[in-house]
Amino acid sequence: MPTNTAAPNILISAAGEDADWKKALVERLPDANIVTGDDNYDSATIDFALFWKQPQGLIKNLTNLKAIFSLGAGVDHVVSSPSLPKNIPVIRLEDAGMADQMVQYHLYAALHFMRDFDVYSAQQAKANWTQHDVARISKCRVGVMGLGALGAAVATALSNLGFGVSGWSRSMKAIEGITTFAGEDAFDEFLGEADILICLLPRTPETEGLLNSETLSHLPKGAAIINAARGAMINEADLLRAIDTGHLRGAFLDVAVTEPLPESHPFWDHPKIRITPHIAAATRVEESADQIAQNIDRMARGETPTGLVDRQSGY
Ligand code: NDP
Repeated sequence: MPTNTAAPNILISAAGEDADWKKALVERLPDANIVTGDDNYDSATIDFALFWKQPQGLIKNLTNLKAIFSLGAGVDHVVSSPSLPKNIPVIRLEDAGMADQMVQYHLYAALHFMRDFDVYSAQQAKANWTQHDVARISKCRVGVMGLGALGAAVATALSNLGFGVSGWSRSMKAIEGITTFAGEDAFDEFLGEADILICLLPRTPETEGLLNSETLSHLPKGAAIINAARGAMINEADLLRAIDTGHLRGAFLDVAVTEPLPESHPFWDHPKIRITPHIAAATRVEESADQIAQNIDRMARGETPTGLVDRQSGY
């Protein structure tokens, strides 16, 4: 990329949190011209756009863009835009304070099943004081789909706690203590060994609907699902069917196909489903602003930014 010493023009569209992002970016890039949707600005002069759930149609007026930064680890909200030019680099956040939160969420959710808290919740509703044997943690096999910035941290933390952990990704990974699988050919074998299946994949055309009647049937009977990635990865009707027929034990879900989850959605009062409202890992403004400012500086020096999305694979 060419070296560019002119002060960059930066547009922030951050779903109601523009002011926090602007303050953090102004502190780190004092020479930049930083605007939000509330400011008067000339769309044709914007060099960098920082987006989280940006309004539809905003991208097509930004005719001079050098890069788009996602204000999250996922970039599905950006790359799904029909007006996104093919040659614009899209840059995502890498960890930026989210891995710790994902680890906390998944330790809780995995222990929920491993220590039978789902069973005890159901018993409490019936004033039932029955004790069950505590399973050995090493015998509880967790399969983590996605071994990126977040999935690898979650897999390692669960392994450190004593779970038997395997992981699945597109390309083969070597992570201490984790049995790894890669690619479509290994998917069924990976699923067959997961008593608790965790989804930390990005949403792409390849991962949408990946968990459906057919793939869920490869999980061992009584397996549980934890999904804090994107709702679209799971066919919700198929998930309900797999739980209601007793093939699956239950699900712990942070995401849904439609968010906020509609009031009438069967997930809300299903006794075997726990729901949280997309809170597994919040974007941390300070850490993220550091990463974005460093990347803008890198690009100004003609260097390649980190966290560059492969537009072909969509993540
Ligand atoms: P990364 O891009 O770092 O990692 C993605 C992982 O998924 C990689 O290991 C990649 O494989 C693997 N993968 C991608 N496509 C496939 C495929 N078709 N088959 C097998 N493996 C595949 O992402 P992050 O870890 O940073 O984030 C994961 C997702 O978590 C985000 O995209 C976002 O949707 C979600 N998220 C949810 C949040 C919440 O609060 N609920 C907060 C933050 C993120 P490989 O390593 O071979 O490339």
